[in-house]
This record gives sequence, structure tokens and C-alpha cells, in this order.
Amino acid sequence: MRYQDRAVLVTGGGSGIGRQVCLMAAAEGARVAVGDLDLERAETVAAEIGQGKGKGEAQAFRIDVTEPASVNAFVEGAETTLGRLDVLVNSAGIREIVSVLDLSPEEWQRVIAVNLTGTFLPSQAFARRLIAAGKPGQIVNLASTLGIMAAPNRAAYVASKHGVVGLTKEMALELGEKGIRVNAVAPGVIRTPMTERYFQDPEMSATIRGIHAMNRWGEPADIARAILFLGAEENGFMTGSLLTVDGGWTTGKKM
Ligand code: NAP
Repeated sequence: MRYQDRAVLVTGGGSGIGRQVCLMAAAEGARVAVGDLDLERAETVAAEIGQGKGKGEAQAFRIDVTEPASVNAFVEGAETTLGRLDVLVNSAGIREIVSVLDLSPEEWQRVIAVNLTGTFLPSQAFARRLIAAGKPGQIVNLASTLGIMAAPNRAAYVASKHGVVGLTKEMALELGEKGIRVNAVAPGVIRTPMTERYFQDPEMSATIRGIHAMNRWGEPADIARAILFLGAEENGFMTGSLLTVDGGWTTGKKM
């Protein structure tokens, strides 16, 4: 198994894509640090792993990815509990739905703080500890199709995800020689608590289905599989890449 006894840290691990990464990494034998703003949610995912078929193990942590002290405590706590650090998945994220004209400075800053600063801080803390220990590692960031193109009413989200793509390249460049690979995935629309409201609206749900060439919504497992591919040790020459997993959304417009 690719992840046997490897330590996988996941921010936003209590929900949606992050949760699925935790479950699938554990199923491949990983020791998982489930980090989330909501400790109860993280504990639920860790318990699900504990009740699994004996593969993998998990520890829940409360983390606020926007707070350096909380981030450091998460990475340090994960290393102590799991005994090592191998893969960090930055899945914590939020988004606004408001026009660029009505977006408040506070909401702009909140989305940038969670999505962009909240990718930078855990990555920096994780890389620092790996480098201090002389160990290799992998970082996988959650970008988005909206890190490649825009959509209305999501100025901060779009800017933050374009930022995540740039940060991924920058970190890949600076950390490659140290044996740390940094890649990102760009999901299409995935059915998670973040998008559930749209899924429940029949008209919106059909529209979203239709923007994907494959004419369906993505599932968390579609993205978790790609994340685990990027984080796998065997995938040793891929860094600074953005892997689009969007059912063909960004391939072109249907005519
Ligand atoms: P989700 O189900 O809402 O999960 C995100 C998790 O991050 C939630 O548990 C959330 O907690 C947590 N979080 C929020 N702020 C945090 C903070 N400051 N510190 C730590 N954790 C925090 O969302 P998802 O759909 O799985 O999305 C995961 C990632 O994929 C995000 O970066 C998102 O932008 C990206 N993505 C999602 C889609 C999609 O269609 N779903 C598409 C492209 C990219 P709260 O619920 O309490 O806020």
C-alpha cells in the first residue's frame, strides 16, 4: 500500500474533500492527523477511521489555519503523535457569494486569510520541520478551476485560488532541492457541504452538472484520488503542477 505507515496531515479534514482524503489515506495504511476548525467534526472523522477495518490510525486536532500559533501546534502535535511527517494536504477553505461591488473588506480578508494565508502557514511550518529533520515530504494544495478562470460573485475566492496556484509554484521552486514536492489540484464542482445548497436546488444542480463535459457533479473521492496520487512517494518527479480534476469543465465551452 502506497501510504502504509506514512503520516498524512489534512487541514479542513473534518468535512468534504479533506474528510475523504483522511478516510482514503487511512484505508491505504496512513497515520492521519485530521485538522479542522471544528474539533468535533475532526473527532468524528478520526473515529470513523478508528472503526475501520484495522488499517491506518487517526488523531483529531483543532486548527485555525489563519493563526500561526494554532498552525504550529497542529504540525508539532501531529509529528509527536504520529511519529513522523510525510504529506500535508491543505484543504481548509471557504468562499463568499457576493458581487465585487458589494464585497466588504472584512469578507475579502476572511476568504484570503483562510484560503491563501491558510495554505501558506501550514506549508511553511511543515516544510521547516521537514528541513530541520533532513527529511523529504509532499504538500498538496486545494486550488480550484477558479484558480485558472473566474466566475461571477466570487472575487476573493477567485483571487485566493489564483494565489494558491502561484504559491504552489513558488514553494515547489524553493523547496525542490530539499526533497519537498508541492503540487495542487483544481477540482470542478464537487458535492460537499460547501456546495450542498446548490445540489439541493434542482435548477442550479442541473446547470452545474451541465458545465462539466462529463455532465455530472464531482464526488469527494474523485479529488481525494488525485490528491493521494500527487502525495504518493512513487510520484517523485512531479512538482509545481496543477492537476485539473474538473470533469472537463475548463476543457472548452459546449456549443
Ligand atoms: P467543506 O466541506 O466546507 O470543508 C472545508 C473545511 O475547512 C470545513 O470543515 C471548514 O470548517 C474548514 N475550515 C474553514 N475555515 C477554517 C480555518 N480557518 N481553519 C481550519 N479549518 C477551516 O469544503 P470542501 O468542498 O471540502 O472544500 C475543500 C477545499 O476544496 C477548499 O479549499 C475548497 O475551496 C476547495 N474546492 C472545493 C470545490 C467544491 O466544489 N466543493 C471546488 C474546488 C475547490 P467550517 O465548515 O466550520 O467553515
